[in-house]
Amino acid sequence: MNDINGDRLLADLRALSDIGGLPNGGIDRLAWSEADLKGRRWFARRIREAGLEAREDSALNVFGRLPEASGPFILTGSHLDSVPNGRRLDGAYGAVAALEVLRTLVEARDPLAERVEIVGFSDEEGVRFSIGLLGSLALCGELPLERLRDARDLDGVRSDEVLVQAGTSLDRLAEAGAHLASLAAFLELHIEQGPRMEAASMDLAVVTGIVGVHRQQFRVIGTQNHAGTTPFALRHDAGRAAARAIAGVEELVQSIDAEAVANVGIVRFYPGGVNVIPGEASFSLEVRHWDERVVRRIVDAFSRRLEETCREEGCNASAELLSWVPPARMDEATMRNLEMACQELGQTAGRLWSGAGHDAAVLSRHVPTGMLFVPSAGGVSHAPAEATDDQHLVLGARALLRAVRVSASRIK
Ligand SMILES: [Zn+2]
Repeated sequence: MNDINGDRLLADLRALSDIGGLPNGGIDRLAWSEADLKGRRWFARRIREAGLEAREDSALNVFGRLPEASGPFILTGSHLDSVPNGRRLDGAYGAVAALEVLRTLVEARDPLAERVEIVGFSDEEGVRFSIGLLGSLALCGELPLERLRDARDLDGVRSDEVLVQAGTSLDRLAEAGAHLASLAAFLELHIEQGPRMEAASMDLAVVTGIVGVHRQQFRVIGTQNHAGTTPFALRHDAGRAAARAIAGVEELVQSIDAEAVANVGIVRFYPGGVNVIPGEASFSLEVRHWDERVVRRIVDAFSRRLEETCREEGCNASAELLSWVPPARMDEATMRNLEMACQELGQTAGRLWSGAGHDAAVLSRHVPTGMLFVPSAGGVSHAPAEATDDQHLVLGARALLRAVRVSASRIK
């Protein structure tokens, strides 16, 4: 049986990392930027050089397959965009490994190659317009078009202007959805982006699900007053009330579920004067867990806790939902297929849920979907220090090849 060419896989990863490369060793292929588009063109060129047909859809997702193939397909791949000052593996690894898998099948003249399609998704990171997974949402007919229409990037440029410059437009994005009917399953290989595999000495892990992400904005109203003349006992300090509630987040979350995480990433006090008791405070709260019920329990418990604290401080609180992305479950049969693929390599894969969002979450709502992780050195990602050993990168691609072959053989 042919196996993937590890040297070629690693060389391709290096070549792609030259596009958008930064002096500090990081990568910047922000979605729809010139570097991102250049990365997409590079991917399409490598697909054609392998004797395959490259196609770009209206969302600028790049697909590759045998010219005569008509589907249904096992789709495999990941995203080609990066976060600003990220590194070369997040997303790119899964896309380049998918190319190596299909190339290997074609070189082996394996008839299953006709049932395999590869993809490099666009704008998974969501940094440009604060809306992630755009490429896979377009493919799956789930585009949040109204939100996207109003969106501007950090420079204030309207989304449609950005898209037109990149070679498509808002009105055309949804055309990408026509291809969904040709897909039978989706497999995504990715770096873990966290420390759990390394801590447990896992070389490969099958993903059981992707966490739901719940984001809220809280507002606490107190009484703005003079910080020199107002005794503590007579204050209605919105800042103090917010800070007390925030300080209790970790203990509250852990008391409900040890695997849940939460983050308060933005805090503001108003009006913001060194001698002014804050009359108002606002903060964000993000909660993540793979079970929707746990997320709800944490969100409810925090609201009650904040209300209690505000009552004690003589303040009032209100909450606004910013976004809610429900958890995604991976397909059980596909998980078993991935585990068998690892076993064929003499590996026992662990099972993990993913704390980060992935295109697989979107696809899982439409076709049987599975994900495979390789470890991240030091658990670092979304940073120039992100790294994975070459042996793990090759091992992951070898497991993907085996899983794709089994999935493809099961297509009716
Ligand atoms: Zn990613």
